Amino acid sequence: MSARFVLSVDVEGLWGLFFVRSYVAEPTAAEAGRSALPRLGTMLAERGMAATFAFVGHLFHESCGPWEGTPHPEAPRPVYPWYERDWYGDDPGTDESRDPLWYARSHALAIHAQGHDVGAHGFAHAILDPQHVPRDVADHEMRSAQSAAAAAGLPPPRSFVFPQNVIGHVGALAENGFTCYRDTDGGLPVRAGPPGGLGRAASLARHALAAPPFVGHARLRDDGVVVLPASFPLLGRDGLRRVVSRSARVARVAKGLERAAREDAIVHVWTHPHAFTSDAAFADLAAVLDLVSAWCEHGDARVMTMADVADEVRRDG
Ligand SMILES: [Zn+2]
Ligand SMILES: [Zn+2]
Repeated sequence: MSARFVLSVDVEGLWGLFFVRSYVAEPTAAEAGRSALPRLGTMLAERGMAATFAFVGHLFHESCGPWEGTPHPEAPRPVYPWYERDWYGDDPGTDESRDPLWYARSHALAIHAQGHDVGAHGFAHAILDPQHVPRDVADHEMRSAQSAAAAAGLPPPRSFVFPQNVIGHVGALAENGFTCYRDTDGGLPVRAGPPGGLGRAASLARHALAAPPFVGHARLRDDGVVVLPASFPLLGRDGLRRVVSRSARVARVAKGLERAAREDAIVHVWTHPHAFTSDAAFADLAAVLDLVSAWCEHGDARVMTMADVADEVRRDG
């Protein structure tokens, strides 16, 4: 028995942040994410590791518009009680050279060329909370991510990561070409709304104390879609998160690998490029990846992408 280690990275530009307006007014987080992404891809490739990079589908475009009125008028809009503006209202209708936080085709192609699994994280990062969002929005998010990937010359994305980890309209995935998605951490429910402070202190304590993480097994649904378990996010070093020491970060992954090896399970960590705003944050990741490398060299772990796991589960049943 060996542990399986999966890393998935949600690549968002401003699409994953704009609904908290301060991120648009002061886009340092999105800019940091943009500059961190190539380094993340390279750090993994240097170690012979492949990860899943789930891009917001709009980022596969190298340009859109220009729009005379509403951007992407054909797109059904998600409407939430906590957001008043048009969901596409910030779309600049330009291109990657002018607005690299809204378009990132060159990055998606580079990540693909490094051998990583390029998946989708919606098209416009609509949060697919079935209470507020009808099925046509989910279909549009998934279908448009596929067509934007095709237009970029990428293979059809198979891995889907739900924005904000809010799982909804799962039945739309298979029809739109996806073979797997990332479940919530530990399969626990996630609040459908903008980022908030609820539960953050408790979560930070679990990181700081290197609490043994959830590990799980992939599950095949009747429609052929594979549900990937998720363990916990790799945190950045901004704000309070810097109290989590490097040794605690590495120890938590080590505990996950130990548990996954015992249970023939998957430890699945995930993160965002904008978590990597400093050399210290990259060094944290390097320490984690070196640990995983050592496990692989001893034959005790395998690094897999989400799509790899889906292939294995669909093959073996
Ligand atoms: Zn656009
Ligand atoms: Zn996101």
